[in-house]
Amino acid sequence: MPKPPPKMPNLQPQQMQFSREAIESAEEMRCLNEIPIPKKEGEFMQCGGEIFVEATRLRYINPIMSPTGQQTVATVNIGKLCVACGKIFSPDQWLK
Ligand SMILES: [Zn+2]
Repeated sequence: MPKPPPKMPNLQPQQMQFSREAIESAEEMRCLNEIPIPKKEGEFMQCGGEIFVEATRLRYINPIMSPTGQQTVATVNIGKLCVACGKIFSPDQWLK
């Protein structure tokens, strides 16, 4: 038996190793974001997207603030972006 992964304050499943059984029996998360139904004004449906990518913001750090004294770009991770609706999806929301 592999030892259990350390407890993490944030949900970061991509950094853990799961058994094959765990993955195969796992329920697939789908995007819960509400998106407008095409041609039906004012009506919404659940997105249901299945593919997510890591979304980041880029911040320009000027030389005065940079630890290296040179201008640099900081990457700020902001979560999972659903490729279907283009909005940030929070896995925590799904777990509720
Ligand atoms: Zn979505």
